[in-house]
This record gives sequence, structure tokens and C-alpha cells, in this order.
Amino acid sequence: MKGKRNTRQRRLVLDAVHSLTNHPSADEIYVYLRKLDSRISRGTVYRNLNILAEDGEINHIKVPTADRYDFRTDRHYHMICSQCGKVYDAPVEYIEANDRAAEVGTGFKIECHNTVFEGVCSDCQKKS
Ligand SMILES: [Zn+2]
Ligand SMILES: [Zn+2]
Repeated sequence: MKGKRNTRQRRLVLDAVHSLTNHPSADEIYVYLRKLDSRISRGTVYRNLNILAEDGEINHIKVPTADRYDFRTDRHYHMICSQCGKVYDAPVEYIEANDRAAEVGTGFKIECHNTVFEGVCSDCQKKS
């Protein structure tokens, strides 16, 4: 029954990443799930996030603050607000040519690149 339980928890974690649309951190996902299932542990949430990211079901994104998770698995760029820390998808096309350009003369086989735009979101601009 252990395997079955793990699958159920993985499903819960996956659903949470879909529900929390704005690139939640592992901690935000944990807090959210804790309200739905008081028995779920931080370790379970973190472990399942890693498995889901490895399986390509979610995207693990590295931004200057905490690591975030994304239900979008296509390649895209992000924008982070330096005031509230929220992470948004950037409406900018992923430039595959840059991956190829980085390979020239370096011997690298580039898989992808990550770009994070930093600035102040429109909500925070309204507040100040
Ligand atoms: Zn903001
Ligand atoms: Zn995203």
C-alpha cells in the first residue's frame, strides 16, 4: 500500500502546483497542502516536487530568491518582482538560437538557458 499512498501524495503535490498558478516556492506548496491534508510532511512535499521535476511533469525554476515550481514545462522566461518577490511568465519568445550560439567554439552541448528579468511588478508600482 506504500506505493499507492506515494502516488496519491504525488498527485496532491502536482495539483497544488497547478492550483497555485504564480510559480509557488516549495514552502508555499507545503503550506497550501497542509490545509488540505494535515498529515502531509514537508519532506514528502519536497521529495515529490523533486520527482515530478525529474519526470518533466513540472518545471523547477531557479530565481534569485527561493526555488520555484511551474506547471508550464515548455521553455519560457520569467520576471521577478524585487519588492514582492512574485514570479511571472515573461511575454518574450525563448531564443533557441542562443543555445546554439553558446556551443560555438566552447565544446558545450547546451540543453537550455534560463533568463530571469528583474524589476517591479505593476501591483507594487501602484502601491508606491
Ligand atoms: Zn511586486
Ligand atoms: Zn513560468
